[in-house]
Amino acid sequence: PTFAELGLSGPVLETLEQMKYTKPTPVQIECIPPGIEGRDIIGIAPTGSGKTAAFALPILHNLWNKPQSLLGCILAPTRELAFQIASQFDALGSGIGVRTIVIVGGEEDRVTQAVMLAKKPHIVVATPGRLLDHLKVTKGFNLRNIKFLVLDEADRLLDSDFGIAIDEILKNVPAERTTYLFSATLTDKVAKLQRANLRNPVKVQA
Ligand code: AMP
Repeated sequence: PTFAELGLSGPVLETLEQMKYTKPTPVQIECIPPGIEGRDIIGIAPTGSGKTAAFALPILHNLWNKPQSLLGCILAPTRELAFQIASQFDALGSGIGVRTIVIVGGEEDRVTQAVMLAKKPHIVVATPGRLLDHLKVTKGFNLRNIKFLVLDEADRLLDSDFGIAIDEILKNVPAERTTYLFSATLTDKVAKLQRANLRNPVKVQA
């Protein structure tokens, strides 16, 4: 199938053409139609499968249909992955003027991040610890209206100290939302997280 046949249209589709994404990858073929329908998704897919676009494209399609600041929050285990995800959102969403920010820990300045959060981005890509810091201390910032939550590389997210931060973040997002969980492997912890947080998910194995 083509990206149009998967349900994409308008500027997002035009951007895909400009980027010379001529054919959707298998994980994109499986994820985009249910993603556009608003279904939850659990994807067992490694890096290189095209999984980032598989979850970004339904979110961007939704953003185009119904613009909203802080539409989606993407959690990733490393700063490198967070920046890679954000750059794909920026590229794929360039035709609709998506505003994406990255909130990661380490040396990054908290005040600068608080200013970025205050500028009403559409998409926040974050590592869990620093995002939780901002949820606790940054006035005016919350995740109460997000429509999409993505847990990318969930196996690695749960493998580390992030587990506690993830639990806290999950208490701060609306129950009424779409959740995408991507993982390279289906570990016991991932399966447990899936059962607790996804609603009748479509399962995709790349
Ligand atoms: P990922 O698995 O998300 O890390 O993506 C791997 C790489 O494939 C990224 O550099 C994407 O930009 C690229 N990519 C994703 N989907 C497509 C596609 N349908 N056609 C061509 N390149 C793609």
